[in-house]
Amino acid sequence: MAQTVKRAFKYRFYPTGEQAAELSRTFGCVRLVYNKALEERTRAWYGEQRRISYVQSSAALTQWKKTGELAFLAEVSSVPLQQALRHLQTAFGNFFAKRSQYPRYKSRKKSRASAEYTRSAFTWHGGRLTLAKMAKPLDIRWSRPLPQGAEPTTVTVSRDAAGRWFVSLLCEDAIAPTPATDKVVGVDAGITSLVTLSTGEKIANPKHERRDRARLVKAQRELSRKAKASANQEKARQRVARVHARIADRRRDFLHKLSTRLVRENQTVVIEDLTVRNLLKNGTLARAISDAAWTDLRMMLEYKCAWYGRELVVIDRFFPSSKLCGTCGTVRGKLPLNVREWTCECGTVHDRDVNAARNILAAGLAASACGDGVRPQRESSRTGRSSMKQEPQRATAGIPRL
Ligand SMILES: [Zn+2]
Repeated sequence: MAQTVKRAFKYRFYPTGEQAAELSRTFGCVRLVYNKALEERTRAWYGEQRRISYVQSSAALTQWKKTGELAFLAEVSSVPLQQALRHLQTAFGNFFAKRSQYPRYKSRKKSRASAEYTRSAFTWHGGRLTLAKMAKPLDIRWSRPLPQGAEPTTVTVSRDAAGRWFVSLLCEDAIAPTPATDKVVGVDAGITSLVTLSTGEKIANPKHERRDRARLVKAQRELSRKAKASANQEKARQRVARVHARIADRRRDFLHKLSTRLVRENQTVVIEDLTVRNLLKNGTLARAISDAAWTDLRMMLEYKCAWYGRELVVIDRFFPSSKLCGTCGTVRGKLPLNVREWTCECGTVHDRDVNAARNILAAGLAASACGDGVRPQRESSRTGRSSMKQEPQRATAGIPRL
């Protein structure tokens, strides 16, 4: 039986001058509404320990549109503004459920500019998408086909820091079942390679990463030399943003291929919870990027396992995966990061990463079999929230600001 999932398909598009102006105005209003509602909620929460609901925020929005100084909010489509309030509601829901931190303000420079349109705010005729308040359909570059007969239910328009426009269409898609297999794999987040599999295979970071990183460092150095608020500074900032965007795009492609392969080939995928890594604060750029890659990879594995009926087991973060001898079970006292290969008392010679991946697999299978010690998958994957996203929503998602 094919399973139906909601899946986002993202494309670039080229707005007309008029469309770009309308969208920029909408982005500005979305940000303003989000920040203003956040401010009111913050005042209520910290001042009076009172929670403001979506309905109350929505009523406030109606009032703002009636005031002289915010009357311009009524000029853009009302749907993206309502959606901004819904996103804020979700952010607070996550905060109150202790799943995330207190919602932050959207900044004009640092936040991704975006607007979300639900079904009532766009028309879809034979593959032509026209947004509310626009006369012409968007000029979309269909880099890959939508599923046959797909009808988008939600459309998100965004502009990244490099000035590129994207539209993401949320559609229902049938996922063909993948034949069951008895293969299982343990995945270790490596230091020298991106990941190491329990099969012994090492998957390196894509070759271009090093070159791109060098470009990034150079672009950032140039940016830091420019005079504040000058035209040259703006140009340098754009250059940094473009390099960031390219790194993110390439990495995402790479991770999509890798995660699809792991999920298709295996019935069970075992990974380690690496949240603790962030505490280590090993501040190198390479480290930061591979941590971000790991976060993205895990998210992709979560929703793809759900799509294809596979199992993802996440084992405890304090499991001594690299120090445990997979043959005799001895745990070594210390294993400095520069030791890539070690010999156990029992005589087994271990490749550090392969041994770790094997131990992760063994721990995952044991935990999975007795239903003990496995950390539940994150809330998001159980509620199906993450399965709605085919790609991270932000073009530069996960790339730390440097
Ligand atoms: Zn041993």
